[in-house]
Amino acid sequence: MLSVVVPAFNEEDMVCRAANAISDQLIQAGIDYELLFIDDGSTDTTWVQICEYAERDTRIRGFHFSRNFGKESAIFAGLEQAEGDCVVVIDCDLQHPPEKIVEMYELWEEGYEIVEGIKADRGEESRFHSFAAVCFYRIISKAVQVDMEKASDFKLLDRKAVNVLLNMRERSAFFRALSSWIGFETATVEFEVARREEGTTKWTTWSLMKYAVSNITSFSSAPMQIVTVFGGMMLLFSIILGAIALFQKAEGIALEGFTTVIIIQLFTGSLIMISLGMIGYYIAKIYDEMKGRPRYIISKKCGFDK
Ligand code: UDP
Ligand code: MG
Repeated sequence: MLSVVVPAFNEEDMVCRAANAISDQLIQAGIDYELLFIDDGSTDTTWVQICEYAERDTRIRGFHFSRNFGKESAIFAGLEQAEGDCVVVIDCDLQHPPEKIVEMYELWEEGYEIVEGIKADRGEESRFHSFAAVCFYRIISKAVQVDMEKASDFKLLDRKAVNVLLNMRERSAFFRALSSWIGFETATVEFEVARREEGTTKWTTWSLMKYAVSNITSFSSAPMQIVTVFGGMMLLFSIILGAIALFQKAEGIALEGFTTVIIIQLFTGSLIMISLGMIGYYIAKIYDEMKGRPRYIISKKCGFDK
């Protein structure tokens, strides 16, 4: 059986459409499936829509989070609840074409353990957005050692891969990168990013930036090593300047140079603060992981009477 995991956050207009579109494709292809909607603490009628649909169609199950935990949490909740031999994760806004699920499933039947959806293009985005995305994916690709620039959350995972992901106890997991990091026999399917039909994207520039920082730090400790590099550069710099100062002192031409002093003072001060902040960020991450709070809290379920 194939499990399809659909994270949904305030997608009232899209739930029915997504469910219909996905079901149509899978029924046509004669694939046995279940459809899991993970309502990520929506504040609109998304949950009502999911329950109504689940009443009509026994292959659909719904889970409602007690609040918004973010898409990553929703994906992991879906993986945990899925019962299929393989799991497909797909967006609720139909930006990931459902007809590709069949293609992915066929590749899985051929023996591939992970089938990644690769974006043929990035869809419609502002220039700043695509620039930021390119920077972000360069860094992440370096950290994971896999090219992530065209990666998406649209993926098929074999049961083996799902179990490996579920056994990772890290809380701030980045699904897209983790599923590449675990390896396995991987195939790719290219897809065009469709336009969002209803509703708006849930991302603001600020939330995207937070998302990027949090994912980079959960995958790489490089930012902390940058601190060491800064330190080394400052040391070199201070040796040169120190030598000059001593030389001037010996020559009896010291005293001037207030500008230099103030610049160095401010510069080192800011570097130290930035570095401390960076280290603090990692300590906060350790603290969060230590507490071991659950990734998500499911408050309601529907569609269990099958
Ligand atoms: N989503 C979610 N929780 C969130 C934000 C988004 O479950 O906090 C879901 C959303 O309902 C959609 C998918 O994640 O199914 C992708 O969201 P969106 O279309 O806003 O992102 P984009 O396509 O712009 O990356
Ligand atoms: Mg979208």
